[in-house]
Amino acid sequence: MKFSHYFRPFSVFLLLACATSGGIAQNSITKPIRVKKPDNIILFIGDGMGVTQVYAGFTKNQGQLNLMKFTSLGFSLTYSASDYITDSGAGGTAISTGNKTYNGAIGVDRAGVPSKTILEFAEEKGLSTGLVSTSSITHATPASFIAHEKFRDDYEAIAADFLDTDIDVFIGGGRNNFTARKDKRNLVQELRDKGYQVIYSMDSVTGIQKGKLAGLVVPEHAPSMLQGRGDMLTQASVTAINILNKNRKGFFLMVEGSQIDWGGHANNTDFVVEEMIDLDKAIGKAMEFAEKDRNTLVIVTADHETGGMAILDGDYQKGTVTAKFGTTDHTGVMVPVFAWGPGAELFQGIQENTDIFKKMMLLLELNPEPPVQQ
Ligand code: MG
Ligand code: ZN
Repeated sequence: MKFSHYFRPFSVFLLLACATSGGIAQNSITKPIRVKKPDNIILFIGDGMGVTQVYAGFTKNQGQLNLMKFTSLGFSLTYSASDYITDSGAGGTAISTGNKTYNGAIGVDRAGVPSKTILEFAEEKGLSTGLVSTSSITHATPASFIAHEKFRDDYEAIAADFLDTDIDVFIGGGRNNFTARKDKRNLVQELRDKGYQVIYSMDSVTGIQKGKLAGLVVPEHAPSMLQGRGDMLTQASVTAINILNKNRKGFFLMVEGSQIDWGGHANNTDFVVEEMIDLDKAIGKAMEFAEKDRNTLVIVTADHETGGMAILDGDYQKGTVTAKFGTTDHTGVMVPVFAWGPGAELFQGIQENTDIFKKMMLLLELNPEPPVQQ
């Protein structure tokens, strides 16, 4: 046991009255219940990851997936304020801020007003914070946790928003949005002036043990698994956990498996399953950490399903899977919520995507601002 560990406040039981609000999900916890409180939350988002994508990965991986070990399972309703079928901006913002908003929004409510994210709440309370992604770090999913922009494709504005926070660790692509900018600002220099170690290669990122880290390891998006990305996601996740865990107050980390979605858009089964298995490997490392730490809640969910994927045949022994797709776009189906660790039981049942935010806030004892009437 690490010495610092000893001084961590022991987990306490929280009395929670977790009332869901405003949505169509029926499963609200209205009576106070006692749950154990985690110090840390590691939230995985598989972009475009429905139940089919999980099961296709499970089949391809010969009947093995770390996700299958999770004991608390629920579903999330993903519709946005503007559309039955969400995009990743509104889907990410629902989870990061607790607000249903319009498709394309990044950390703003349906009126376009900035809405504080769980990462920002955590940071305010002195927790360490991090983001990891296999896409550009300015892409919709990670952006939703740190930026406040009306339009998701305003990548340079999103990159500038990173400078307005004190996020401790971010690792992903999108270096160009920090360096090759229309406004000629050199955000890498600004990050360095703020004390960040700005690192351009994954090999060097893994050597970082402490301090603030901006790992901008590719100019735009990382390559897909089929194109040879390797174990970037696992290495980035482990590096982030290592650094963030130095803070006795705890941490919040969001890790995105970005490209499950892209495999779905491409209707490419191999693309989907390799990305799915890659995400699962990173999840396995987080579980290993959580198992030792005992104060960490691991949540795995998606912003939406992509492709309307259907499994038509498979073979666990051979690790083969045959699938078809109903669309090249997102679908409106519920997505799974897996939770493991202290507080996991809160995520059982069918919930609004916005409830994931509310439950994480309760568990980390972060206080949301009073809701603004709209
Ligand atoms: Mg994404
Ligand atoms: Zn998509």
